[in-house]
Amino acid sequence: MSDRIFNFSAGPAVMPEEVLKQCQEDMWSLGKTGIGVMEHSHRGKAFSAVLLQTIADCRALAKIPDDYDILFLTGGASSQFFMIPMNFLGKDQTADYLMTGAWSKKAIGDAKRYGNVHVACSSEDKNCSYIPAEVTWSKSAVYGHFTSNNTIFGTQFKTEPTPPAGVPLICDASSDIFSRPIDVTKYGMIYAGSQKNLGPAGVTLVIIRKDLVERGSKDLPVMLQYRTHAKEDSCYNTPPSFPIYAVGQVFKWLLKNGGLEGIAAKNEAKAGKLYDYLDQSSLFKATAAGDSRSLMNVTFVTGDEKLDEQFIAFTKERKMDGLKGHRSVGGMRASIYNAFPEAGVDALIAAMKEFESQNR
Ligand code: PMP
Repeated sequence: MSDRIFNFSAGPAVMPEEVLKQCQEDMWSLGKTGIGVMEHSHRGKAFSAVLLQTIADCRALAKIPDDYDILFLTGGASSQFFMIPMNFLGKDQTADYLMTGAWSKKAIGDAKRYGNVHVACSSEDKNCSYIPAEVTWSKSAVYGHFTSNNTIFGTQFKTEPTPPAGVPLICDASSDIFSRPIDVTKYGMIYAGSQKNLGPAGVTLVIIRKDLVERGSKDLPVMLQYRTHAKEDSCYNTPPSFPIYAVGQVFKWLLKNGGLEGIAAKNEAKAGKLYDYLDQSSLFKATAAGDSRSLMNVTFVTGDEKLDEQFIAFTKERKMDGLKGHRSVGGMRASIYNAFPEAGVDALIAAMKEFESQNR
């Protein structure tokens, strides 16, 4: 009997149980080496094999062409907010940013320190509850940046926006990476913190086209140049070896379970159930606009803050945790990333039904 409960946390978040069990084993001794995975030298044979396999599995999973580098960096997705403009945005140049939530705003804030930012669309007028249909690209942007899934507001791009020809598209995919198939060739760069769909916190996955790596500024500290990490297979300095290993286990789990097509079908089924319930409920209401709803973070309210609080306490009594919404939206947020089990969605719906019958 598992003593685990349903964890709706927005990140760090639930991991696949079989991955956790493999981590337990390998933490004691990686294969037959007699040394735990966290204790191996990052330059030794055992960890090098782990790293190379993780990169190969990542490439296979998302069909990443050879002209893209796959990097494992530190400093969280937040460090990409400044690394990107430091590398690619000159003082007199302009980058286009799509403003759809709190994380886009932070990315914009850092980019402004280095060059001009053109806000190509914004959903701030309605508290970021929707994905704008129109994007006004500037004439000569050096890149376009967007956040594919807005973790706090529960909105998600259904498909990537299309910048003018020749303008590299850069995506913060921290909260929906590998939740569905992706055409990497449409992007110059995709990045994501690991702590939602990829594994434990501590590493940032960066998928970046090689010509962009080369285009980056050479006037930066070496650690802040993508080329440094591309040249050294993410081992210029000591990489976060355990998180990389664990992310590798999650890639294996995804590959074994139908790849990105397989996980997309499961994600649609899970989120679909939840939104269907919300749409017919007379108490609970989804906060994101119908065509912009996230399959990863489902945000909803009762419309009465006290009742929201009571409902969150009600779920805690039923072995659920992490449902409190971010303070800028209020209410509830069910984060149902790749590893979140469908049984947890069923448990939440059952709790909503019960609560609703008591609070008509
Ligand atoms: N972007 C998005 C979309 C996020 O959800 C988050 C974290 N919640 C971040 C960036 C920041 O990531 P980190 O904490 O790894 O810096």
